[in-house]
Amino acid sequence: MYDTIVVGAGPAGMTAALYAGRSNLKVALLERGIYGGQMNNTAEIENYPGYEHISGPALAEKMFEPLEKFGVEHLFGTMTKLELDGPIKKIHTEDGILEAKTVILAMGAKHRLLGIPGEDTYNSRGVSYCAVCDGAFFRGQNLLVVGGGDSAVEEALFLTQFAETVTIVHRRDQLRAQKVIQDRAFANEKIKFIWDSVVEEIQGDDLRVQEVVIKNVKTGEVSQQAFGGVFIYVGLDAMTESVTDLGITDEAGWIITDQDMATTIPGVFAIGDVRQKQLRQITTAVGEGAQAGQGVYNYLTEHAN
Ligand code: FAD
Ligand code: NAP
Repeated sequence: MYDTIVVGAGPAGMTAALYAGRSNLKVALLERGIYGGQMNNTAEIENYPGYEHISGPALAEKMFEPLEKFGVEHLFGTMTKLELDGPIKKIHTEDGILEAKTVILAMGAKHRLLGIPGEDTYNSRGVSYCAVCDGAFFRGQNLLVVGGGDSAVEEALFLTQFAETVTIVHRRDQLRAQKVIQDRAFANEKIKFIWDSVVEEIQGDDLRVQEVVIKNVKTGEVSQQAFGGVFIYVGLDAMTESVTDLGITDEAGWIITDQDMATTIPGVFAIGDVRQKQLRQITTAVGEGAQAGQGVYNYLTEHAN
């Protein structure tokens, strides 16, 4: 029986586990993959205070290191269901059921798919969702990046170190990305833009991506253009499949909490990207992690009998 189980070892979950561990609680951190979450997909983080810049995996390592010192147990597995009959929370995994007095949900978000023909067929054969993981395989090629947010523009910049050119195709004529990131992209000679346009199909031969069908949403004009790779960054979906039956999510699947990170279910907290909120960042994730780590301590103190 744990005092709390934190589900997801991204920056939010690791911080919550740190705070709960420092309060001398019995804490488990359940993660289905490698700790660090989405931070593992980015080479350069420039907006985490205290570091001028640091790679995502390096920051993940630094967040993970102190957890052992405070007795946090690391469990490998995927939460498939959260059962809430009675005061004890039962976390179902493929390997069995874990029990805790409180749960902190920190499952984060996953990249959204475009859902167009060819996307699945050429996944890992020219279609990628992770420039840091796959960029080096595309040396000297002409690449297409889909999207206009921070991820698309920042990762397009990252890809310029390998690619001949990087073209960003965006469905509007203005980027959503932060101004500082936009300015860098506009100043980079390798980056081109296709505005007001969407990708309709990704085509190739038996082996790899070769062409992309692009439609201008204003003029209706359709063109076929050659690209060696397509990197897709069109936003995020909540990783909440395992808790959608609990009535704590909004229509889009994000978890609703109060300002103390508590859901409407007593003893169940949610933090980080998985929450319904405006700003999905590492800084906001760790702040919410701290609040929930302290929150479970307060909850357990109040419900001690
Ligand atoms: P996540 O990082 O998504 O971690 C969630 C964890 O939960 C994952 O490890 C996942 O495997 C695990 N998990 C999910 N479901 C389950 C389950 N059922 N059972 C067990 N484990 C589960 N933010 C910045 O502030 N600065 C940046 O420079 C920056 N760059 C970015 C670049 C890219 C390409 C991307 C994709 C994001 C970037 N972000 C950046 C955003 C930032 O990474 C996220 O806001 C942050 O990681 C969210 O943290 P989190 O802990 O809430 O969730
Ligand atoms: P995002 O901010 O939601 O942006 C998604 C982009 O994709 C938008 O420009 C959107 O267009 C476009 N888009 C959505 N659906 C589309 C579709 N079906 N077809 C074509 N285009 C589509 O997502 P993100 O860029 O992945 O960022 C996610 C979160 O991580 C954000 O909170 C972001 O701030 C954070 N992040 C931060 C940093 C950083 O701080 N350096 C870096 C990366 C990510 P519209 O603009 O028209 O909606």
